[in-house]
Amino acid sequence: MKQGIPLKSGIIYGPVNSRRLGRSLGLNLSPVRYKLCSFNCVYCQYGWTDVSTLDAAQREKDFPTADDFASTLERVLIEQKNEGVDNITFSGNGESTLHPRFAELVDIAGALKNKYCPAARIGVLTNSSAATIEKVRKALEKLDFRVMKLDAGEIETFREINRPCPQVDYQAILESLKSMPDVTLQTMFVDGAYQNIDQRKIDSWVERVGEIKPIKAQIYSLHRPSAASSLREVPAEKLKEIAARVESATGVSVEVIVAAAPYQPRFSEPGQR
Ligand code: SF4
Repeated sequence: MKQGIPLKSGIIYGPVNSRRLGRSLGLNLSPVRYKLCSFNCVYCQYGWTDVSTLDAAQREKDFPTADDFASTLERVLIEQKNEGVDNITFSGNGESTLHPRFAELVDIAGALKNKYCPAARIGVLTNSSAATIEKVRKALEKLDFRVMKLDAGEIETFREINRPCPQVDYQAILESLKSMPDVTLQTMFVDGAYQNIDQRKIDSWVERVGEIKPIKAQIYSLHRPSAASSLREVPAEKLKEIAARVESATGVSVEVIVAAAPYQPRFSEPGQR
């Protein structure tokens, strides 16, 4: 049985209204028939990764074309002109930055945003793995905001929680995060059969946050069904403790994102990961 929520079926999703972000459009650059990512996170809401790679050039035909991306985004921005859009975010089924033409699509989205909703902010939610590639890094730096994942302060926990493909270099990710401007660091904390919240793991994560010096950090726990059925949500009280700890050790301000409803591992089955 496939675990997780269904993959998004198109290039654009939303707009979604949220108190935190206003009216947001999501841009899904990933294949829609299978899950492609450079990670295989135990907590992924889309279930286990089908194709794990950092170089998707051979699979370009499975991604949306630049023309389809441009025409779809333009149509939606015209439709939304009256109500407006506050945020446009590259996110979606897998890892947006793995699109073989990610840099070109960032330029297209930026030009359309300037034409139809110049006040909107355009950004990315990324697992940080491709920020180590020069062309991707330059594209990321053109965006208004970069929300970048770091779930582990050392490589063993990184491998256990994020399960990267072999081309991913943890140390290079840390170096990219340190040198990239205005990074918002995002961290998922999980408990259960796989966890990144014991004292040693929190200590090393706090150290990395202090080295990276993001403009802020966002921490959260499970909000949706996860790939591994043996995970437990980290309670809000524990997240607040972690936030206070990292703020006092590093001076980085931390936003704790609490789920609207309790975590329900709806897709769990006995004996599955
Ligand atoms: S990086 Fe994101 S899309 Fe990829 S496996 Fe992890 S949670 Fe899922």
